[in-house]
Amino acid sequence: MSEKYDVIVIGAGPAGYVCAIRAAQLGLKVACIERMTDKAGQGVNGGTCLNVGCIPSKALLDSSYKYWEATHSLKKHGITLQDAGIDVPTMIGRKDAIIKQLTQGIAGLFKVNGVTSLFGSGRLLADRKVEYTSHDGEVTVFDADNVVIACGSQSIDIPVAPLDGEMIVNSTGALELQSVPARLGVIGAGVIGLELGSVWKRLGSEVVLLEAMEDFLPVMDQQIAKEAHKILNKQGLDIRLGCRVTASELKGSGENRQVEVTYLTQDGKETKEVFDKLVVCVGRRPFTTNLLAPDCGVELDERGFIFVDDHCATNAPGIWAVGDVVRGPMLAHKASEEGVMVAERIAGHKTQVNYDIIPNVIYVHPEIAAVGQTEEQLKQSGEPYKTGIFPFAASGRALAADEAEGMVKMLVHADTDRILGCHIVGPSAADLVQQVAIAMEFGSTAEDLALMVFGHPTLSEAVHEAALAANGHAIHIPNKRKR
Ligand code: FAD
Ligand code: NAD
Repeated sequence: MSEKYDVIVIGAGPAGYVCAIRAAQLGLKVACIERMTDKAGQGVNGGTCLNVGCIPSKALLDSSYKYWEATHSLKKHGITLQDAGIDVPTMIGRKDAIIKQLTQGIAGLFKVNGVTSLFGSGRLLADRKVEYTSHDGEVTVFDADNVVIACGSQSIDIPVAPLDGEMIVNSTGALELQSVPARLGVIGAGVIGLELGSVWKRLGSEVVLLEAMEDFLPVMDQQIAKEAHKILNKQGLDIRLGCRVTASELKGSGENRQVEVTYLTQDGKETKEVFDKLVVCVGRRPFTTNLLAPDCGVELDERGFIFVDDHCATNAPGIWAVGDVVRGPMLAHKASEEGVMVAERIAGHKTQVNYDIIPNVIYVHPEIAAVGQTEEQLKQSGEPYKTGIFPFAASGRALAADEAEGMVKMLVHADTDRILGCHIVGPSAADLVQQVAIAMEFGSTAEDLALMVFGHPTLSEAVHEAALAANGHAIHIPNKRKR
C-alpha cells in the first residue's frame, strides 16, 4: 500500500512551497509534488516566481539599471566612465546563478522541515487521492487527508502572434535573449511588458509596446498612471495605446530574420512595424491542464480558476487551492499568504488573508506601487475621501539622490481620517508603500502617521508629508486644504 500524508501539495511555487513548509512546521506529514525542470532537465522547486518570474526579471532589471545609470545619469554626478559595455550572456548567467541559489535554498528548507519533495506531475483523483507520475514515468497513488492545489498560471498565447521560441517569445523567452535586439516589439503594456520592455530599452533596444486598451494601466490610480506614463515616455519607451495586433509574419532568413506586426490603431488605421524580436505578454491564465480527474469533485469558476471560498477551500471537502490558480491578483506574496493560511487552517487555526491590503508593485524605474483603493474606486463607491499628495521634487533625499520624479498620493476617509489607499510613483515606491500597508493593517489614520517621527533625510518623509497634506498640514509644500 502507498504512503498516506496529512497534506499533499501539488505545485512548489510560492503558494505551494510556503504551504508545505508551514504545514510541516505545524507537525503535519507533508509531500510536495513539482513538475518543473531546470535548464539541465533536473526537477526544480520555486515555480514561476523563482525560475521565470519575479526573481529573474528583477535580476535583469537591476543589471540593466546599472548599465543605464552608467551610460545616462552618472555624468551629472561628476563621474565619467569609459568603455561601458554590455555582456548579455554574463548578465543572463548572473540571473541563472541567483535562481539556482534560491531554488536550492527551497530544497534545503524542505529537508530541514521534513517535507517530502517529489519531482513529477500530480493529478487529483476522487476521495483525496493524488496520482503522482515521476519524470521517468513511474505512477504512484497517494492518499491524503488534505490536498492543496498550487499549480499556478501560464502565459496566455494569442493566435495572431504564435510563439516560435526564437523570434516571437513570451516572458520566459524575453528573460533569455542572448543579445540586445535593435528593435523590440512588445504586445501588451501591462506589468510584464513594462518591466521586460524596460530591461531591453535600458540595454539599448528601441522598444515599442502595442497595447490594446486606450488607458494606460487602467486598474491603477489614474493620476499615478498618467505620471508614470509621462516618465516612461521620457525614458524612450514607445507606448502605443489603443493598438490591436491583428497579424504577425516572419520575414527574411538567417541573421536577417525579422517579425512584421500588423495592428489597428484607435482610429481603425492599419499599421505595420518590423521588429527584431517580439515579446507577447497579454496576461496569464490558471494552469489546470491534466490536473483534475473528472470525478475529483473540484469545480472551476467561469474564468477557469479553481473555485474557492475566502479561506481557499474548494467545494470538495479536504481539497484546497491557493495562488495564481484561484481568483485574485496574480502576485507571489498573495500566493504565499494563501499558502500559509491554508496550512494553518488545516492545522486547526483560524488564519485569514486580508485581501484589502495587498501591495502591488511594477518594478520599472522609478517604481510604481499601490495599496488599498484608488481614487476611481472611491469615486465609484461614493465613499467620502480627502487626498494628500507630496511630490518627490520637494524631498531633500530624493533630490540628493537625483531621483526627484513622481509623487506619493494618500487617500484618506473624509470623516474618520483612516487611510484608504496609497499610490506612489517614485524612488523606492515598493518599500514606501509597504510602510503605508503596515499602517493600514493597524487601522491607522493620516493623523497617526503625521504624528510619527520620520528619519531625516529619507524618502519616507514623502509618505509623512503626504499624510500631513491630507489634513492640510504639510510643511514642505503649500497646502491645498487649509486647517
Ligand atoms: P507558480 O509560481 O506558477 O507555481 C506553480 C507551480 O506548480 C509551478 O512550478 C508548476 O510547474 C507547478 N505545477 C503545475 N501543475 C502541476 C502538476 N499537475 N503537478 C505538479 N506540479 C505542477 N509577482 C510578484 O508578486 N512580484 C513580481 O515582481 C512578479 N514578477 C513576475 C514576473 C514575471 C515575468 C512573471 C511571469 C510573473 C511575475 N509575478 C510577480 C507573478 C508571480 O510569479 C506569481 O504570482 C506567482 O509565482 C504565483 O505563485 P503560485 O505558487 O501560485 O504559482
Ligand atoms: P497584464 O494583465 O498586466 O497586462 C497584459 C496587457 O496586455 C493588458 O494591458 C492588456 O490590455 C494587454 N493585451 C491583452 N491582449 C492584447 C492584445 N491582443 N494586443 C495588445 N494588448 C493586449 O498581464 P502581464 O503583463 O502578462 O502579467 C501577467 C500577470 O503577472 C499579472 O497579472 C501580474 O499580476 C503578474 N506579474 C506581476 C509582476 C509584479 O508584481 N511586479 C510582474 C510581472 C507579472
